[in-house]
Amino acid sequence: MQAIKRIPVLEVFGPTVQGEGMVIGRKTMFVRTAGCDYSCSWCDSAFTWDGSAKADIRMLTANEIIEELMAIGGKTFEHVTISGGNPALLPQLSVFIEELHARGISVALETQGSRWQDWFWSIDELTLSPKPPSSGMKTDWQILDEIVSKLNEKEASFCLKTVVFDDEDLEYATFVHMRYPNVPFYLQAGNSQLQETEPHRMLPYLVERYEWLINRVMPNDELKRVHVLPQLHTWVWGNKKGV
Ligand code: SF4
Repeated sequence: MQAIKRIPVLEVFGPTVQGEGMVIGRKTMFVRTAGCDYSCSWCDSAFTWDGSAKADIRMLTANEIIEELMAIGGKTFEHVTISGGNPALLPQLSVFIEELHARGISVALETQGSRWQDWFWSIDELTLSPKPPSSGMKTDWQILDEIVSKLNEKEASFCLKTVVFDDEDLEYATFVHMRYPNVPFYLQAGNSQLQETEPHRMLPYLVERYEWLINRVMPNDELKRVHVLPQLHTWVWGNKKGV
C-alpha cells in the first residue's frame, strides 16, 4: 500500500478576506505550508522557512487539514487559499486540492514561480509572483517561461503579481509584464515595516507607499493593462499573523 504523503502545515485560519492579488477581498480560509526555496530580504512569512517556527510544523494528511478547516470555519466558507512559504515545493498537495474540489470548495494559491507542479492546472486562481531585485533573489526566466506556457496550454486561470518597493523593482515589474503581456498583471505596493504591529501606526506609511506606486504607474506607457493594489490586510491588521 502506498504511504499517505503528509503536508507540512504551519497555520490554518479564517474565514477572513484575501488581502492580495486577483482575488483581493474574497472571503477565504487560509492554509499556510512550511518551507521555501527562496529567502527574500523582506519576506513577511520568514517563519515558514527560517527555522524559527520549526516546532510548530504539523505533518497533516489532506483529510486532517480539511477536518481542521471545517472545525474552524464550519459552513461559512467555500474558498481556500493555500499560501507559504512556497507551496509549489509540495507535489502531495494534489490530493488536498482534489478533496477540496470534491466538496465544492474552490482553491487559490500563490507561488513565486520557481517550480512546476502538475496540480497548477487545477488551481482555480493561481498567482505567480516573481520576486523583484529588492528581494535579493534572482528569477529563473527559463522556468517561469515554461510555467507560463504550460498554464496557457490548458487555459488555466492565473495571473502574475509583482511587489514593488522602489524604481528598480518597477523596472523589473515592467519587464515581467512585457515578457508575458497577455497574462493579467498586478502590481502591489511593498511593505518594509514588518516589525510594526499596530495597524493605525502603519496606515499612513502604507497609504504613502500605495500612492507612490499609483503615481509611478499612471504615466508609464508600458504599464497599461495592469492592476495596482495595496496589501489590503495590512491596512486592517498590520503585520498580525493568523488573520
Ligand atoms: Fe518569503 Fe515568498 Fe520570498 Fe519565500 S518566496 S522567501 S515565502 S516572500
